[in-house]
Amino acid sequence: MIIEIRWHARAGQGAKTGANILAQAAIRQGKYAQSFPEFGPERRGAPVQAFNRISDEPFTIHSGVTEPDIVIVLDPKLVGNVPITDGLKAGGWIFLNAPIGAREAQERFGWQAFRVVTCDASGLSKRTLKRDIPNVPILGALAARAGVVALESLQTESISRLAKGRGTDDPVVKANLEALALGYEETDFADVHTQSLPSSGTKPPLPAWYELPVAGVIDRGGTAQVYQTGGWRLKRPELDLNVCVHCLMCWLVCPDSAILLSGARIIGIDYRHCKGCGLCETQCPPRARAIKMVEEEALQPAEKTP
Ligand code: SF4
Ligand code: SF4
Repeated sequence: MIIEIRWHARAGQGAKTGANILAQAAIRQGKYAQSFPEFGPERRGAPVQAFNRISDEPFTIHSGVTEPDIVIVLDPKLVGNVPITDGLKAGGWIFLNAPIGAREAQERFGWQAFRVVTCDASGLSKRTLKRDIPNVPILGALAARAGVVALESLQTESISRLAKGRGTDDPVVKANLEALALGYEETDFADVHTQSLPSSGTKPPLPAWYELPVAGVIDRGGTAQVYQTGGWRLKRPELDLNVCVHCLMCWLVCPDSAILLSGARIIGIDYRHCKGCGLCETQCPPRARAIKMVEEEALQPAEKTP
């Protein structure tokens, strides 16, 4: 049986390296394995994918992975913005880098048909490696819960890569091994859970841009209103209505009609459609400075529209 794995991450988070370490660790155990990345727009922060195939028997498949057994998500902000569960087998695994419980992730993202493991891989990475490189702890979580490879094989592979010219007492090698071990220990798991769960009280999310019909003919206006495009956002505008002078400059320049009005007064921002371009902040007059762009936080509710 071949186990197929798809990684979702942003460029710079180490999905390609993580997939490669996993494949090499599996080979160390006598298994057969592949790893390969897929890139889209090449820039730091752009969504990327990487893939693994691992088997006890030799195999000759070299096509892309379309029906994975396991999906690994290194950036929780990608959920809702890229098709995380596309092709994922019923009862398949989702490994999510997030500081929340697995059951909460199941409920929040509608993943009750899958086995979910959460691990605060970014937090563990910052604690040990002093950087947000979540691929190492998530590999530990994978070994602990899905058992695709043994922790010892991952440790041996990590030492082999990192210790060249350094020695196993090197602080970088030690920090990586610690991150791996913590990822192995600090996970939360939720099994498939098909019973209905109490509503979280939030409105269901709009369809995402990737759910648009391929090559569809747009035969009417206003289609942006019925699809969520705000998931592209890396920064979010925060509006302080206490100092807003309602000059409407932000409304005038917003390319996504995401500034909400009531009559001639600003009442809020439509985060389902705001792409975080920052033009509103630029145009807000210095006497008001009512809009400030801040880093988008992971796991924001699906919408904050008033
Ligand atoms: S950040 Fe850009 S898209 Fe979002 S509200 Fe401001 S101008 Fe509109
Ligand atoms: S530009 Fe600034 S002051 Fe003017 S309406 Fe927008 S938020 Fe308010």
